Amino acid sequence: MQSRNEKTQTVLIAGGAGFVGSHLCDAHLARGDKVICVDSYITGSQNNVRPLLNHPNFLLVESDIRDLTKFDEPLDKIYNLACAASPPQYQADPVHTMMTCVAGTGNLLQLAERHQANFLQASTSEVYGDPVEHPQREDYRGNVNCTGPRACYDEGKRAAEALCFDMVRAARVSARVARIFNTYGPRMLPNDGRIISNLLVQAISGDPLTIYGSGEQTRSFCFVSDLVAGLMALMDVDPNPGMPVNLGNPGEFTIKELAVMIESLFPTTPGVVYRPLPQDDPQRRRPDISRAQELLNWRPQIPLSEGLQRTAAWFEATLSDSKEFGSRRTKAQDRAAALAVER
Ligand code: UDP
Repeated sequence: MQSRNEKTQTVLIAGGAGFVGSHLCDAHLARGDKVICVDSYITGSQNNVRPLLNHPNFLLVESDIRDLTKFDEPLDKIYNLACAASPPQYQADPVHTMMTCVAGTGNLLQLAERHQANFLQASTSEVYGDPVEHPQREDYRGNVNCTGPRACYDEGKRAAEALCFDMVRAARVSARVARIFNTYGPRMLPNDGRIISNLLVQAISGDPLTIYGSGEQTRSFCFVSDLVAGLMALMDVDPNPGMPVNLGNPGEFTIKELAVMIESLFPTTPGVVYRPLPQDDPQRRRPDISRAQELLNWRPQIPLSEGLQRTAAWFEATLSDSKEFGSRRTKAQDRAAALAVER
């Protein structure tokens, strides 16, 4: 809680109506901060922040960070979480994804410079590509296919990191970079195409679970509240570490193991079906979080078994409330369909 004599901080959260962003809005409001939530609703949704709309310290602004609205009031902190993050969503309009990462981050950094606001960039474990070093430490330079279908996101985020560190070196912005590993929890889009949302929606609907490739590939899954705590700690740490920090849960699971865990939550699930592995799908991923532990005294608290139960309960409640969810498309999917028609 904030003490009475502490000044109220104004925090701008770009991508604040998204899955992670909306939880970050909640956490800053709970701390007594004023939150300006900026979102283009390309993959974010007003549903995620609807309970906050009447909060006196909450302001929702529709804006695409590639062409950012002006903000006159003083800002203390700016988070950039504005980008589609699921492979099918960020590949739906890859040029938009790349420009969001590069032009959008550039615009937000300029805003941070004008306001002398602390800045946090949501980067990604995708900067390591299909890693040949395991687990991934921040000094590993990665193995990205710079011309493949994931490049719009991987290279976009790498370029955004470069912009941040150029601003830090020039002493223009106190920018911090979080490399976020796979995150899950309530408010994931049911149709965003990621593994945990896909498998939970399939299990709840009584459909077989889709495994891409052999299912021997691994991921490390962090529950959203753990990630939000890490993001806030990195934003506040003083002095600015001036280097990227991995945020993720080091527990590593094969996709097959994850499917078994979900089947055990929904015993009537009719088994699994195998589908082709998407191009450039990383084979292994696990964060080395020693830097975050040392600098931020942070480590995840929620084990996968518990986080899955909480996420499953949320999906069950949400899907039973809105039957049309399965057919609802995101703006990113609408844009992909429109681009296909133009071609
Ligand atoms: N995956 C899967 N079935 C699905 C969705 C994803 O087997 O229905 C696999 C995907 O090929 C990848 C892993 O699960 O190996 C994680 O995929 P996700 O899209 O969640 O995130 P990524 O880590 O690839 O960005």
